[in-house]
Amino acid sequence: MESLRVLELFSGIGGMHYGLHESGVPAQVVAAVDINTTANLVYRHNFPDTVLWNKTIEGVSIDDFNALSFDMILMSPPCQPFTRIGLQGDLSDPRTKSFLYILHLLPRLSRRPRFILLENVKGFESSSARERLVETLKECGYTFQEIMVSPISVGIPNSRLRYFLIAKISTENFTSSKILEAFPHPADGDSHEQPTVLSLTCSGAGQPEEQMQGGHVLYKLETTTDAQRKKNQNDDLSVGQIQDFLERPMEGNMECYLLPPKTLLRYGLLLDIVQPTCRRSVCFTKGYGRYVEGTGSVLQCCMETKMESVFSGLDRCSEEEKLQRLLKLKLRYFTPREVANLMGFPQTFSFPEQTSTIQRYRVLGNSVNVVVVARLLQLLVS
Ligand code: SAH
Repeated sequence: MESLRVLELFSGIGGMHYGLHESGVPAQVVAAVDINTTANLVYRHNFPDTVLWNKTIEGVSIDDFNALSFDMILMSPPCQPFTRIGLQGDLSDPRTKSFLYILHLLPRLSRRPRFILLENVKGFESSSARERLVETLKECGYTFQEIMVSPISVGIPNSRLRYFLIAKISTENFTSSKILEAFPHPADGDSHEQPTVLSLTCSGAGQPEEQMQGGHVLYKLETTTDAQRKKNQNDDLSVGQIQDFLERPMEGNMECYLLPPKTLLRYGLLLDIVQPTCRRSVCFTKGYGRYVEGTGSVLQCCMETKMESVFSGLDRCSEEEKLQRLLKLKLRYFTPREVANLMGFPQTFSFPEQTSTIQRYRVLGNSVNVVVVARLLQLLVS
């Protein structure tokens, strides 16, 4: 197969580009476009030879796109218009403009790309933007498949339930058996983490990831269902362990990642705590390291301390005692490198020195799981 010419829109730090490499599909990214300076710095650092346009997508003319003569589009349009916590402006949100511009362009290109892969947050599947997308794809003669999938399905202990759409110019349909082969179900995992093949019959109703993660549930008030779900996830041997994704302690000074006393005292009960032997972690968002609630898991580094001994009756303790107890767990944030590992980024990926830890978390939180993208691309191009 000859090498595909790929256009990467909303390229961020290049999660899609890594997914493309990982998929083994012969291809080259002929241009990437993004307006975020930090993300672009990271992208250039890792892909110095790729043409990267630091401009808005609406600012690229149809002639410029035509000149690229691309066979495939990879894109993750901004998701704030569709997130549950966002204002859900959908089509009226100014951030949807660039996406609508792409839909406007598609039928007008001198040569339509054979393949498209789009990623977005849960919530996109019921948006008007998705309806527009589907209408445009049908008009342009694409066959497509929508899938909700989390990295758990490819054996990575991290929840990141996302909407994906793969489309090709072909009359041949995607077969559901192939999709389920690419994303094997965890044996005893949580049913909501299993890939949902949209528009094909499937079991299990969706539940918001925020609820599933239990990130908002007080530890001491954790429901038995939550506790059972976490236990099921940790017992699922088809998923790797957190320890396989950690940096070795020698490699960096971990002290700076420890949760400060103020955070422990204020948010101790809201943390999603995981141990190295766990087979789960919650989704890392762009607020990780700055906000605590619902932004990602933290790691317990002292295994000698039992959780029960810290949390039982904690609310009746004085502030000082509370702190002493919580400190015993030696809780730390995952490092950006570890978050990147959980998101499937290869070891060759790195951050330029001038980016801060907070900037690194922010751009990672916007990115995609590389292994999931790779599997989808294999399905799409096979
Ligand atoms: N897949 C990417 C992340 C996508 S997040 C990765 O792997 O990192 C969405 C990206 O769209 C952000 O980086 C944001 O800067 C960019 N973006 C948002 N609106 C844009 C526009 N109008 N033109 C170009 N880029 C835009």
